[in-house]
Parts: sequence; structure tokens; C-alpha cells
Amino acid sequence: MASRTRIAICLLRNDLRFHDNEALQWANKNCTHVLPLYCFDPRHFGGTYHFNFPKTGSHRLKLLLQTVTDLRQTLRNKGSDLIVRHGKPEVVVSELVQRIGSENVSTVTFHTEVTDEEVKVENAIKEKSGVKVETFWGHTLYHKDDLPFSPKQLPDVYTQFRKRVEGQSPVRKCIVMPDKLNPLPEGIEAGDIPTVQQLGGQEAPVDDRGVMEFKGGETVALERLQHYLFGSDSVATYKETRNGLIGADYSTKFSMWLAFGSLSPRHIYWEIKRYESERVSNQSTYWVIFELIWRDYFRFVALKYGNQIFQLEGIQGKHIQWKQDKDLFNAWKDGRTGVPFVDANMRELAATGFMSNRGRQNVASFLTKDLKLDWRLGAEWFESMLIDHDVCSNYGNWLYSAGIGNDPREDRKFNMVKQGLDYDPEGDYIRLWIPELAGVKGGVVHTVWTMGNGALSTAGVSLGETYPKPVVIAPEWSRHFGKKSVGV
Ligand SMILES: Cc1cc2nc3c(=O)[nH]c(=O)nc-3n(C[C@H](O)[C@H](O)[C@H](O)COP(=O)(O)OP(=O)(O)OC[C@H]3O[C@@H](n4cnc5c(N)ncnc54)[C@H](O)[C@@H]3O)c2cc1C
Repeated sequence: MASRTRIAICLLRNDLRFHDNEALQWANKNCTHVLPLYCFDPRHFGGTYHFNFPKTGSHRLKLLLQTVTDLRQTLRNKGSDLIVRHGKPEVVVSELVQRIGSENVSTVTFHTEVTDEEVKVENAIKEKSGVKVETFWGHTLYHKDDLPFSPKQLPDVYTQFRKRVEGQSPVRKCIVMPDKLNPLPEGIEAGDIPTVQQLGGQEAPVDDRGVMEFKGGETVALERLQHYLFGSDSVATYKETRNGLIGADYSTKFSMWLAFGSLSPRHIYWEIKRYESERVSNQSTYWVIFELIWRDYFRFVALKYGNQIFQLEGIQGKHIQWKQDKDLFNAWKDGRTGVPFVDANMRELAATGFMSNRGRQNVASFLTKDLKLDWRLGAEWFESMLIDHDVCSNYGNWLYSAGIGNDPREDRKFNMVKQGLDYDPEGDYIRLWIPELAGVKGGVVHTVWTMGNGALSTAGVSLGETYPKPVVIAPEWSRHFGKKSVGV
């Protein structure tokens, strides 16, 4: 006698991979048929919450389409497919259940998220689909159930969190995936992957000055992981190079693939452990894990504080008089503040959708501490522009920079001039992204407004005309004026 048909719909969202995918593995193990589903949710292609920037900017959209295309191919190779729909997941899932017959659909599976919009989708599926829902925790290195405290007791200081999980929580092994997936239920059309235009987006500009050519999807993600570890040994020098600004290998560049879920943090962890046992184990190899624990931390912070992470007062409930000056904000976002280190980073972001961690910390500090602008302007601009936007990491870091998050230090503020000179002493990064300043040689380019008229004119710069005068000059910057000789 044929066994009863048991169909699982596996909803994929920010877990767009085959490896280490428990929601998919569970569905495959427990049901006769599996329907892997991705929905292009129209809400992701509208505007951001307060300021109506495109919620999925063109750089991320391009990578999302590549990611979904790659996952479809992988699933096809496994004997299945990725069913693609354009619609709200809670509506699409209900329609599919009706179409297949609720008596045949035994379960909907998915990885749980922690932030409001995503959790609302999950609750709507639970209410509307009429079938059992099986959820999994799959976005972090440390499993929520393995934390040595309840999420509400999460320490508010990162170091305390890190020490406790490192001391008391295991990192689980990756989920062993089947070689082949169970078949799709019959009569379900795969659905076309929409184009950029159909999603109302715009083609992303291409700029060969970017750190690297990013390509979405698990296939390239796994190649990048192998390259960074066994291919180039870059992981063995990460701690020394990670504050770089130019090029592919100063840092891992895993963030975009992690954000789409094309790369599992656990898989990275176990590959680093393998690298450590086969090649070398040092501070650098550990430091990549240290940074991945930051990523975990911000997800657990979001779980603990819920919508407070989006509120003006942040998780500290601190009232600060933030400004919403449109001109200042536009100067920041367009890379026209007249402060070269800020402008170069903001132009890189606009041109490529990526910015180094060093850059992000500086431009966030500049927006919140020097310009004193509403931090949510910056967070929503990043949300729109970043190829690796991850709601927990983005908002957690912005709160941290704005002094209303998890930074135990009071009033931490970056000095744009010192930072520029420390991390780009010769000014190469500035000249790469600000061609107007290409004629200014050496590190003095970081303080171009301090140059004399003669030097400026030899360099072909006319302040206020070819390049803006600084919108603000912080008093502490002057300590670093003249640290690099003026050269043209
Ligand atoms: C204002 C601001 C906003 C940010 N927004 C995001 C975001 O939306 N998405 C995102 O993934 N990261 C964000 N970051 C964190 C960090 O800048 C990026 O993860 C990193 O620059 C990505 O490059 P990488 O993969 O080469 O990082 P690496 O230096 O190679 O680090 C390895 C991995 O560790 C994690 N990581 C490193 N630093 C952080 C951090 N500070 N917080 C959380 N995780 C970290 C990332 O997953 C990263 O891929 C933000 C930082 C700031 C200051």
C-alpha cells in the first residue's frame, strides 16, 4: 500500500542555502514531498519605515535575484526545485495549501526571525494556513536554546555575552543534508524569477573601484569561504588586515552571503576549526569567530529588546535632541560633506553597496556625533543601500554608534581626521573615490581645507567649487592638522 502523501511547504527567506538548512532537512525527512518556496514579498520593494528610501536598493536587489537563481539551480540538481511567487508569504502559503488540499499538506516549516516585520509574517502563517507549523532556529553560530541564560537575561555588554557563550555554549555541528530531496507535489508550477523591472527596481551601477565583484548565491559563497581560508590563507592574517579599505582580502566579505543566508555561520566556524587543525591557529583565525559572535550578539539583542531597537531613544531610552536637517543629510549620503574620509566612504557605498567596517563606524559616528542628525536617517539609508543589510546587525550597530545601544563607554566619538590618517595614511582611498582630489598627494588630502591657496590651485582644487568646504569642523581634529606634509 502506498504511504499517505505528506507534503511540507518549506518557506525560505533569509536562509537561501542548501547546506546546514534544518527547515529543509526536517521537511525532507518527515514528509513524502517537499515544496521549497521563496516569495518576493511586495513589502520589501516599497519604502523604508520613516524616510521612504527604497527598502531594497538596486545593489542588493541584483544580488537577491542572483541568490534565488542559484538556489533554484541547486535544488533542481537535488531533484527538487524552488517554487517562486510574487506575493506576501502568508497569502501565498494559504493559497498553496488550498490548491494542494489541506488534507495533504502536513506542515509548513521555516527558520524563525526575531524582528517585527518578519515575526508578523510568521504569526500570520500560523493563523491563516490552517496547518501545523514547525519552526527552527538557524541564523546564528550559537543556538538560542544553548545560551547559558534566557534571552531576556542577555548581558547588555558584548564582552560579558561573548565570555559566557564561549565558556558555556557549544557550537552545534552543521545539519547533515540529504544527497537528494523528495519530489515536489504534482501540478505546482515553478514560477518565474521576476526581473529587476518587474520588482519596480533599477539596474545597479557597476563600478570597478569596488572591493570585489560580489555575486549572490550559495555556490559563490562557498567558493569565497574556501578562497579566504585554504585558497589564500588570508584568514591567518585577518586581525592585522581587517581595518583595510581597499581590495578583496583585507576582510572576509562574508557579510552579504550571511545576510541572505547563503552561508551558514556554523559552516564558517567548522571550516575555520578545520583550517586551524590543518594549517595554523592564531589570533587572526580566532578573530573571525570573534566578529561572528558580534553578529550573534546583535540578533539576541533584537530578540531581547523587540521594537525598542527601532525607536529614537534606543534600548537605553535616552532622550537626545536629534536634528533632521535635510541639506546636511543629503551632503552625508551623497558624499559631499567636504570631509574626505566621510565622503569617500559614502561614495563607495552608493557606487557598490558595500563599505568596510572601519568606514561604517566612522560615517555613523560623523552623522550622529558631528552632524547630530537623527540616527534613523543613517540606519534607513544603510538599510536601503547595503548589499549585506541585516536588520539586527544594522540597527544594533547604529544604536551602538549613536550612544543609545550596547556601548558601555559614554560619548564615544570618532575623530575623522585621525581615523583617516591612521587607516589611510597616504590618502590612496580618498583619491580612489574622490577624483576631484586626485591632484592632492599624500595624507594631507584628509585635511584638504587646511592647505594653502597655492597648494590647492597646483592640485587643481577650488574649495567650495570643485570640492565642498567642510560642513563641520570638530575642535579635536586640529590636533592632527599638519601631521602629514603638504604635497601636490
Ligand atoms: C553603522 C553600521 C552598520 C552595519 N550594518 C551591517 C549590516 O547591515 N549587515 C552586516 O552584516 N553588518 C553590518 N555592520 C557590521 C560590519 O561593518 C560588517 O559586517 C562588515 O563590515 C562586513 O564586511 P566583512 O564580511 O568583510 O566583515 P569581516 O570583518 O570579515 O567580519 C566577519 C563577519 O563578522 C560579522 N561582523 C563583523 N563586524 C560586525 C559587527 N560590527 N556587527 C555585526 N557583525 C559583524 C559579519 O557577519 C562579517 O561578515 C555594520 C556596522 C556598522 C558600524
